[in-house]
Amino acid sequence: MSATPMDAAGAEPVAFPQPESSDIGTPFWASLKQGKLSFQRCQSCGKAWLPARHQCPGCLSPNWQREESKGQARLISWVVYHVAYHPAFANRLPYTVAVVELDEGPRMITNLIHTEAHSLQLDQRLWLVIEDEQGVAVPRFEPHPPGAGMTAKAQA
Ligand SMILES: [Zn+2]
Repeated sequence: MSATPMDAAGAEPVAFPQPESSDIGTPFWASLKQGKLSFQRCQSCGKAWLPARHQCPGCLSPNWQREESKGQARLISWVVYHVAYHPAFANRLPYTVAVVELDEGPRMITNLIHTEAHSLQLDQRLWLVIEDEQGVAVPRFEPHPPGAGMTAKAQA
């Protein structure tokens, strides 16, 4: 491997960090490439969760199934990053990292896009956007329904 991460002043783009490969996690990333956000649900107690794991975090049952999210969520918490902790993110500052809760139950850490941090509100509705990052399909959320884009300011 000759690829070397550059610092913030580097001229070459830095490789986007790749998801860790694991038997349990790979289907999550594979489904994102097909435009679907999947999660696991326990067949014993009904709990649904992310990220992928072999046993239910509620009752430790290994009896679960994958389900597909409809891609709607609400905002639980967020923080605005002004420091890049990986060089691949240096030119994105500031960016917003959030915890969102899918309507189906699982909570996940994600990025919020197409929004300003000062306009965010607890519990606000969010919609899934799957973006391509150098071949990795990454789930992010925005405050507009699909297709609404940035045109919501027209009424101001
Ligand atoms: Zn369970």
